[in-house]
Amino acid sequence: MNFEYFTDACVACGQPVTIAVDYPRLLCGRCLLLAAEHDPAAAAQRARVEEQLRLVAELGMPPDGRTGRAAWPLRDLGREWDGYVFELFGLQVASLPTPRDYPHFRLTFEGVAEMQLVLYLRRVRYRDLPAVVEARWHPARGETVLTRGVERLRRKGDLALVERGYEMLQVHRGDRFRQLFDERGRKRGTANYTQEELRERLPLACATVARRTGRAPTQSEVAAELGVSTPTLKKYLADYRVDWHAVKQGRRA
Ligand SMILES: [Zn+2]
Repeated sequence: MNFEYFTDACVACGQPVTIAVDYPRLLCGRCLLLAAEHDPAAAAQRARVEEQLRLVAELGMPPDGRTGRAAWPLRDLGREWDGYVFELFGLQVASLPTPRDYPHFRLTFEGVAEMQLVLYLRRVRYRDLPAVVEARWHPARGETVLTRGVERLRRKGDLALVERGYEMLQVHRGDRFRQLFDERGRKRGTANYTQEELRERLPLACATVARRTGRAPTQSEVAAELGVSTPTLKKYLADYRVDWHAVKQGRRA
């Protein structure tokens, strides 16, 4: 199956951007790394860029395609899903050809598709456990589902907690996503953060607000800085078990 995907040109060098990061301007990985030498905010994006570049290669995605990612806490499905987060990573496409027998996701706003992804990676994680369940998909090779990082688990029972994620991977691979995530009145521009992203961005957002105001930041100021509502930030802090008092004083989460 052929997918018509989007490409972007780097604003600095004009080369195709393989990884879109929301650093103020759209830069290719090479230019972002150059910018990172002088800008601490860009330096914080490096790990994410490197991870995404690695994923694009590992998953066999087109190297010049615009990627997209999203993540949702699953606790709205019921208390038994407290602490679980569903992550998606894929190729942004202009349309989703039929038959849609491949993992895909469509984010719509008032009936209009905002982002359509062919999902090369679906992942479920539980709190900060170092293992995840993952479904990797490729147009020629099909799907592989596996648990990664089991060797890093320490406590009895952790593997069972991680592997409950398979349930989600089986059920939510296509149009079911819409029922799950899309019809919750999500607002345009609502940001989603994975646990790593939040842990990376939160200290920066706190520092930015503190610099601006000259005092410790409030949750509503930091939420605004991150582009989420205050209740959403509170939810993230709870789901990801972040020590807010440490973070707002500039210590690690
Ligand atoms: Zn460039």
